Amino acid sequence: MRFPARMALNNGVQMDRLGFGLYKVPPADAGLLVATALTAGYRRFDTAAMYGNEVGVGRGIGGAIGDAAQADSAVGTTGGSGEAVHNLMREDVFVTTKVWNDHHGYDATLRAFDTSISNLGLDYIDLYLIHWPCAGKGLFVETYKAMETLYREGKVRAIGVSNFQPGHLEELMHKAEVVPAVNQVELHPWLQQTSLRTLHEQLGIATEAWSPLGRGQVLADPAIVSLAHKHARTPAQIILRWHLQLGNLVIPKASSAERIKENFDVFDFELDSGDMDGIAGLERHHRTGSHPDNVN
Ligand code: NDP
Repeated sequence: MRFPARMALNNGVQMDRLGFGLYKVPPADAGLLVATALTAGYRRFDTAAMYGNEVGVGRGIGGAIGDAAQADSAVGTTGGSGEAVHNLMREDVFVTTKVWNDHHGYDATLRAFDTSISNLGLDYIDLYLIHWPCAGKGLFVETYKAMETLYREGKVRAIGVSNFQPGHLEELMHKAEVVPAVNQVELHPWLQQTSLRTLHEQLGIATEAWSPLGRGQVLADPAIVSLAHKHARTPAQIILRWHLQLGNLVIPKASSAERIKENFDVFDFELDSGDMDGIAGLERHHRTGSHPDNVN
């Protein structure tokens, strides 16, 4: 199966299926890693206010949008991975950031957005997400209303949620006017989120997989290693290709130029239906991160 490297969100905005995740990337490294990922071909970046690296991410992107001299001063080199990317247009790059749990509520979310967009040095954000529902706070609908305002004002091209479970989505769908474009949730071969994915399809919400490699834990799964041998690929490439064939948006994080490049090199091979069925059988309901009920 070949498919476009992009998909249309429910409002028509085009989004690359494969982007680069920046959780736990130190602020001082973010610009260089963004530049390295741009060189490898990535054009989509996933950060969050909580990651503390929006300024570095913005520098990496700003360097590629600006001229070569700006880029070099912003991020240094690309770590020997190839020619740095320059002279992109803003619209060539897609940036996601997220409102953190301590800024739920209408006014607080508007303030958090102003901080994030200023940190990133951009004049609009492509996708703005509620990081966690924090149901105990009871404020995710108000938070989302602020995001609807930002959307109507043209400050964000799409809005969505993260770590929302079916009950949270149901409440939001009753009270919101804009259907979330994306729900970003933990998803990998050991936590396949099958029923949530089906619900997303019914509602017109794109599924985005965070920790798509299970934070690296799933790479050693013998079935994944066996498929890697079969296809002469790496375990990371097998898992990322599985995500793409399922229709997931995906945002692997990696720290070296080699891994960043390897994770992007997944568009020229195909898993067959037996391979896909084999990975479907690896479900363990195993979380590497927090359960949404436990985050407030
Ligand atoms: P991933 O599943 O992307 O795994 C990252 C780990 O895998 C790192 O330890 C990395 O090592 C390793 N790795 C990456 N590529 C390879 C490779 N080719 N070979 C071997 N090891 C590899 O986990 P993340 O938790 O980082 O998730 C990805 C992104 O999802 C985050 O960066 C963030 O953007 C998003 N996220 C969102 C959350 C949310 O609540 N919305 C929660 C968590 C993540 P190394 O870095 O040493 O190269």
